[in-house]
Amino acid sequence: MSTREHVPVAIIGAGQAGLSVSWYLSRAGIDHVVLDAKTPVHAWSDSRWDNFTLVTPNWHCRLPGYTYEGPDPDGFMTRDQVVEWLDGWLKTFEAPVRTHTRVTRLRNDPDGGFELTLSSGAGEQLLTCEHAVIATGGYPLPITPAFAGSLDPSIAQIHSEQYRNADQLPDGAVLVVGTGQSGAQIAEDLHLEGRQVHLAVGNAPRVARFYRGRDCMTWLSDMGLYDKAAQEYPGGKAAIEKTNHYVTGRDGGRDIDLRQFAAEGMRVYGTLIDGKDTTLTFAPTLTKHLDHADSVYNSICADIDAYIERAGVDAPPAQRYTPVWAPDTDPTGLDLAAEGVTSIVWAIGYRPDYRWIEASAFDGGGRPMQTRGVTGVDGLSFIGLPWMHTWGSGRFLGVDRDAQHVAATIISSYHESVLRLAVGH
Ligand SMILES: Cc1cc2nc3c(=O)[nH]c(=O)nc-3n(C[C@H](O)[C@H](O)[C@H](O)COP(=O)(O)OP(=O)(O)OC[C@H]3O[C@@H](n4cnc5c(N)ncnc54)[C@H](O)[C@@H]3O)c2cc1C
Repeated sequence: MSTREHVPVAIIGAGQAGLSVSWYLSRAGIDHVVLDAKTPVHAWSDSRWDNFTLVTPNWHCRLPGYTYEGPDPDGFMTRDQVVEWLDGWLKTFEAPVRTHTRVTRLRNDPDGGFELTLSSGAGEQLLTCEHAVIATGGYPLPITPAFAGSLDPSIAQIHSEQYRNADQLPDGAVLVVGTGQSGAQIAEDLHLEGRQVHLAVGNAPRVARFYRGRDCMTWLSDMGLYDKAAQEYPGGKAAIEKTNHYVTGRDGGRDIDLRQFAAEGMRVYGTLIDGKDTTLTFAPTLTKHLDHADSVYNSICADIDAYIERAGVDAPPAQRYTPVWAPDTDPTGLDLAAEGVTSIVWAIGYRPDYRWIEASAFDGGGRPMQTRGVTGVDGLSFIGLPWMHTWGSGRFLGVDRDAQHVAATIISSYHESVLRLAVGH
């Protein structure tokens, strides 16, 4: 390995989060590099399905020096529109990005700061830095259950991040596992394409798209919920650990109502707990999960009603969701062969993967211990984690605010160290 290169700050990951920190450091004249295993903001083009739209309204799209200024602030950009919008942002500044460079190891440097091992087409190189910002995304390792390997090999299996469209899957029925935002929208996509969908419904909550004349996310913003730090959020830690509410921005935005899909022929089940060959077993949780999602939906409507009353806003009348379908019993089994299911889309989420970082900055579950991105390890910070500071931290809405904070911490400590050098301590 060649001699070690040095740069004061290394940002690992050139998604919107890492680049937001870079934007502020560039403005402050701080020398830094942004390292990415692939290319800037590639997740939006590489890991979203063809009919993807944002779930958050376009007005949430704000990055340093750049906000959505298109014709439809209350609409939902498609995947390709998001990619175009981000390309517009990248043109507004010159980030010092090194593409196709994966960081395979970060450890304390005996001389102070960190030593990074970089892997690229040029082989392995070492780089040292005083500050390292981890911006590798909140969705690093797709989860599939251990029993996926025991299923009949003739059944095609993909993770939601690999899903593009119905044509990519073999002919036949499809099982979608999970009803977080991705699972629910992928099930809808396949259902609209005319596929027979079987859906394992998890305990994710749901939210109305529009209520009393406005997008629910716009009401929640007016109610100040997106400015609340995680520890002050109603429901506390439990609320932030929950799967995101399912809803869609497709075709201008609408609810996702799994009961309606079931009434139209989608086959729905509770949590998938085991599988071997072509036989799957589900927990008897379907009724409970559908009821739970609807009760969260209605409780958010009730919170908005209370706000409207308090604030004296003139709005159309209140409503509640009434179920359009209910299961007779909770199904607990499915024979994939008998039902003609030829593929499975796993949409049960992601887990963190920081095994390459050798630093005492993680809890027992491998999650970073941080306050607004700053860890107890001198010089090590994170950006872009879901709920890192507020609801929007892992999204477009909150990343600018978080990046300002992380960059300000680096800038002030950088100036302190320069000052110390200047005065000779
Ligand atoms: C399906 C889906 C839908 C979403 N919908 C919305 C939405 O509607 N609205 C919204 O606001 N947000 C949404 N998000 C959340 C969020 O905006 C995106 O996940 C966004 O891509 C996060 O940006 P990021 O910069 O934090 O991470 P990423 O975009 O994931 O970027 C991380 C970068 O780090 C690089 N990297 C990783 N490991 C290494 C390494 N070891 N060395 C070097 N480089 C590395 C990767 O190549 C990547 O470029 C959605 C997320 C998903 C998954």
